Amino acid sequence: MRRPVMQIDILPVFDDNYVYLLFDPDTGTSGVVDPGAAEPVLARLRDLGRGLDWILLTHHHADHSGGIPVLRRETGARVILAKKDVERVPGIDIALDIEVGEGDRVEFGDREFRVLETPGHTRGHVAFWFPGEAALFCGDTLFSLGCGRLFEGTAEQMWASLSKLAALPPETRVYCGHEYTLSNGRFALTVDPDNPRLRARMEEVERLRREGLPTIPTTIGLELETNPFLRPFDPAIRRALGMETASDVEVFAELRRRKDGFRG
Ligand SMILES: [Zn+2]
Repeated sequence: MRRPVMQIDILPVFDDNYVYLLFDPDTGTSGVVDPGAAEPVLARLRDLGRGLDWILLTHHHADHSGGIPVLRRETGARVILAKKDVERVPGIDIALDIEVGEGDRVEFGDREFRVLETPGHTRGHVAFWFPGEAALFCGDTLFSLGCGRLFEGTAEQMWASLSKLAALPPETRVYCGHEYTLSNGRFALTVDPDNPRLRARMEEVERLRREGLPTIPTTIGLELETNPFLRPFDPAIRRALGMETASDVEVFAELRRRKDGFRG
């Protein structure tokens, strides 16, 4: 008999954040990724009749971590977070919580995920990859058709982090921290206007958003075809920027700089 897949529920909070609820039906293990707010998570858990075992945190920003103190108090869940973020997240108990870094393998029920350090948006940012589920939770590093802003890291660091994610199997489903796909795509079309896969994806994204539906998950394969931040080596993008002879990092940095100033 085929093993049931891990359930992943998408919970929109605030204007455009996504919180993800994880459930392993084999063991009843329950988790949440980046709970910026506690109340919507508690309400959904009540509806599902579930407790909460684990809180997975990609980075310290309040719109991802703000729900942690209340969730801990109400459910007893333990936090899995980057070693580098322990000092920056309120209410972490180093006796109970799990600090992780690059390459760590962590059990979730009888499944397993791996920790990938992805600095750039913040210096402590991590992503969680479930190889057996073909699922990636990457916070504010890779977005559908875009990437996170460089608040604490350099373009070199972010390009290295994105390259690491881009090397995951193409079927990997990407669950990112925000619903930014429509505005990211409008920017992407300014630097990659003749990409037929990008145009087709934008038609789908516009339809999904009109219907009030998430554009998430995307996949690594789809992002490789459509996301300009994963393709600074692409001759068409380089031509659009007038940077045919620049390095990949230079092209990536210019894309990020233009996106920062883009009002689409
Ligand atoms: Zn953030």
